[in-house]
Amino acid sequence: MEFNEYQDKANRTLYGNEQVLTNCALGLAGESGQLIDLIQNYTFMGKDLDKDQLIDEMGDVLWYLSQIAQWADIDFDDVAKTNIETLNKRYPNGFTGL
Ligand SMILES: [Mg+2]
Repeated sequence: MEFNEYQDKANRTLYGNEQVLTNCALGLAGESGQLIDLIQNYTFMGKDLDKDQLIDEMGDVLWYLSQIAQWADIDFDDVAKTNIETLNKRYPNGFTGL
């Protein structure tokens, strides 16, 4: 699935009013925390890292990111493309250490 297609499909479940951007920002923080909890529990608590849970939480983060882009009238494809361009400029030979 392409990023713009995802953005469009995710938008079907966007909700809110004039506070939608704030809601998306807060939701992004909350869902990022859920993703971090999984990793923290794996790294420090000896719990299994459940791939399905990872996929779910990463999807939740992706949803909020896509809808912040939607609110700002930014194609989600452009977010991904710009990020890769930035990485290619910053690390033209890949990350080779600090
Ligand atoms: Mg979640």
